[in-house]
Amino acid sequence: MTYQHITIPESGTKISVESDRMHVPDNPILGYIEGDGIGPDITRASLRIWDAAVERAYGGRRKVHWCELYMGEKAAGIYGGDFFPAETLDAIRDLTVSIKGPLTTPVGGGFRSLNVSLRQEMDLYACVRPVRYYTGIPSPLRHPEEVDIVIFRENTEDVYSGIEFESGTEANRKLAAFLRDEMGADFFLDAGLAIKPISPFGSRRLIRKAIQYAIDNNRASVTLVHKGNIMKYTEGAFRSWGYALAKEEFREQIVTEDELWDEYGGTMPEGKILIKDRIADIMFQLLQLRPGEFDVLATNNPNGDYLSDALAAEVGGIGIAPGANMADHVAVFEATHGTAPKYANLDKVNPSSLTLSGVMMLEYIGWNEAAELINRAFPQVMEDRTVTYDFARLMDNATTLSTSQFADALISKINRL
Ligand code: NAP
Repeated sequence: MTYQHITIPESGTKISVESDRMHVPDNPILGYIEGDGIGPDITRASLRIWDAAVERAYGGRRKVHWCELYMGEKAAGIYGGDFFPAETLDAIRDLTVSIKGPLTTPVGGGFRSLNVSLRQEMDLYACVRPVRYYTGIPSPLRHPEEVDIVIFRENTEDVYSGIEFESGTEANRKLAAFLRDEMGADFFLDAGLAIKPISPFGSRRLIRKAIQYAIDNNRASVTLVHKGNIMKYTEGAFRSWGYALAKEEFREQIVTEDELWDEYGGTMPEGKILIKDRIADIMFQLLQLRPGEFDVLATNNPNGDYLSDALAAEVGGIGIAPGANMADHVAVFEATHGTAPKYANLDKVNPSSLTLSGVMMLEYIGWNEAAELINRAFPQVMEDRTVTYDFARLMDNATTLSTSQFADALISKINRL
C-alpha cells in the first residue's frame, strides 16, 4: 500500500493476521495519532515511557517502530482541511494495532465526532475499559483494591446508532403515524423519536469477545449487564443471546449461575468461568459496595458508557482510565479523556490515561513483560507522591511534576526494576 503523507518505517515489520491469529514480529510497526490539545504533550511523554519499558524488558531484542498517522487538527493542516483522511483509516487497518490521543470535535456544520466516526467506519465494535486500582491513588472507596474489572461495551448499536427523528419534522410525523396507526403504540404528541436496534449479531460478537478475554486472562466470571426487565426485546434479548452463545461456543469452559446452584450446589467447579447477569441499575450499587464480586462485564452501549466512567471514578477518574476500541483484530487504543484545550502545550497534564492504554496495547500484542514493568513502576511513583497537578490537588504533601517530569520519574522507576 502506498501513502501520500504517511511514512511506514522501513526498519519495522507489520503485524499480520493469518487464520484468525495475530502474528507479532519482534520489530512491529505500530501506529500512533498524537491528537489535539494536550494530545502532543501526553503522546510525547508516553512514547518515551513505552520505549523505556520495552528496552528494559527485552534489552534490544524487541523494539516498537512507531508510525505517525494523522487525524484531527494536525491532519487538517497536512491534508488541506481534511480532519479525517481516508489514508489514515487504511493505515489503521494495514498496521492492525494503533494508539491515539484525544481529538477535538470541531463545532458547527453538522460535523460528527471524529471518535464516533472512527468507531463506525472501522466497525470497532467493542469498547474495552479495564479499571483497576493502583496503590497510592486517592479513591472514595474504603477498599478500592477490590476493583479489578474489565468492561466490554458494545460500540455500534443501541440508541447511540443515531437513528433519531426530531420533533416537528416530516420524518418524525411519518414514523409517529406508522407507530400509532399500524403498530398500536401510544405516546405524547410531538415526542422526539429514536430507534434502539440491538441485534443477535452485534450482541453475540461483543459477548464472544468478553468471554474469550476472560478465558485468555484467567478471569473468574463474565457478567451480562442489561435492563432487560423493562426493555425485553432489546436488552432482555441481549441477555438471552449471551447465555445461548456461552453454552453453544464455550460449553466446556463455562458454568451459568443457574447451573452453579442447580448442578454444583453453589460451589464453582475448578477452572470454569461463571456466566451471570445483573440488571443495570443494581450494578451501579454493587460496583460501589461489592466490586470484588465482578470481573469482566459485557454490556450494551449506553449502560457501558455510564458504567465505565462511574467505575473509573472509584480508582482515580478518567484522567488515568485507559481504553481501547476493537474489531476482531484491528484495535485502536486511546486516552479516555478529551483534549483539555486550556492546558494545550503547557507540559502540565497527566499522561497516565494514554500511558496505561499503551500498557493494554503491549498486553494485546503479547509483550506482557514490558506492560508489567509499567504496572509495577506506576504505584511506586504514586507512593512517592510525585504526580501531575490533578493528583497533587487530591493528595497531602505531594510534589507537582510536569508531564515530561512525570514521564522521567516513571522511567527512572522502570529502569530500577
Ligand atoms: P476534557 O478535555 O476531558 O477536559 C475536562 C477536564 O478534565 C479538564 O479541564 C481537566 O480538569 C480534566 N482533564 C482531562 N484530561 C486530563 C489530563 N490528562 N490530566 C489532567 N486533567 C485532565 O473534556 P472537555 O473539556 O469536555 O472536552 C474538550 C474537547 O475534547 C472537546 O472538543 C471534546 O469533543 C473532546 N473530547 C474528546 C474525546 C476523545 O478524543 N476520546 C473524549 C472526550 C472529549 P481541570 O480543569 O479540573 O484541571
